Amino acid sequence: MKALTLKPGREKSLRGHHPWVFSRACEHIPDIEDGEIVEVFSSGDAFLGLGMCSLRSQITVRMLAFERKPVPDIVRSHIEGALQLRRALFDGKKTNAYRLINAEGDRLPGLIVDKFDDVLVMQIGTAGMTRLGGSVVDILVDLLHPSWIYEKSVAASRKEEGLNPVQKTLYGTEKEPCTIMEEGLSFDVFPIRGQKTGFFLDQRPARNIVREYAHGRRVLNCFSYTGAFSVAALAGGAERADSLDISQEALNSVSTNIVRNGFEERAHTEFCASAFDFLRENPLDYDFIILDPPAFAKRRFDVPGALRGYKEINRQAIQKMPRGSFLLTASCSYHVTREMFQDMLFHAALDARRDLQIIARLGSGPDHPLNVYHPEGEYLKSFLCYVQ
Ligand code: SAH
Repeated sequence: MKALTLKPGREKSLRGHHPWVFSRACEHIPDIEDGEIVEVFSSGDAFLGLGMCSLRSQITVRMLAFERKPVPDIVRSHIEGALQLRRALFDGKKTNAYRLINAEGDRLPGLIVDKFDDVLVMQIGTAGMTRLGGSVVDILVDLLHPSWIYEKSVAASRKEEGLNPVQKTLYGTEKEPCTIMEEGLSFDVFPIRGQKTGFFLDQRPARNIVREYAHGRRVLNCFSYTGAFSVAALAGGAERADSLDISQEALNSVSTNIVRNGFEERAHTEFCASAFDFLRENPLDYDFIILDPPAFAKRRFDVPGALRGYKEINRQAIQKMPRGSFLLTASCSYHVTREMFQDMLFHAALDARRDLQIIARLGSGPDHPLNVYHPEGEYLKSFLCYVQ
């Protein structure tokens, strides 16, 4: 294995097990192919660990381990560790869908694997993980015996790695849709036709809290996708749960998901519209609104515009709901921090001339572990608020 050497004094973050080496920290990059694994050394020749190179990215190396071990053993042991955690979290529970591998959070940068019952959907984000993909599939087959492994590597960030989008079956037989169980509720998931891997597993804690407090309420689920929050609200005894999304294809699954869980279709209406227009133009006869938009800030540069967008939809909801309403509001923009998001809520409430209380602050669920050495892995903020 070839050696990559850091500039003097640049080994500090690796000594703290941070998994990234930036290009500006590198003194010598050996002659390698994109994605190859290298041994990383300090300028004083101390071995620091093994990592995958991305020659086109600002992040030149993503670490796999901070010890010398054969690469196949490292990958297998990280996957086993990830699986062990999920078994501790979900065995015996009424949930068979979860994030099985959460990239840096599970010590496997560039790799996301979502488990939908016996189907695995894999997202690869880096040149290094592209090379390891085949052995990852072998290990997953060996450990989990899935019926289908589908690769859905379509993230925009792949461009920075010089990678084209990839969507293909890696193992087994296609199963679209597959049916999952989340907290005893069942949903159709479309890995091929759906958004991202097919289902937004990260919002499970927020769906649970909606279910807990939705009793007797009229719920509007904005940015509903396939209606997972709507089903959770109905399961919690909501009087009605309406779903709004800009994508008709996403909305097409909402009724199926509602009916299959035994709820009546008349407790539900779908609106295919932009949430911005809908919230501005309608009186909103609801006392529980959910706002779970896509990332408005994809880059740091987008943050001011994103905050204006968040503020606009939150202000409309806060202003129009009666006293005693709930608002579940979320942001999955990594660049919008929890503090910024809370500050946006402050301005939204002030402009709406209403009092707003934060009841709960949530993030992604325990199947999205945060590596203590990689705080950058945190992105999702969901607040449950009470409007006075
Ligand atoms: N809350 C969902 C996930 C939301 S993903 C769940 O728990 O499953 C974000 C959704 O917002 C997508 O379905 C996308 O189609 C929708 N969307 C994007 N822009 C929108 C807009 N301007 N108005 C309404 N929906 C929008």
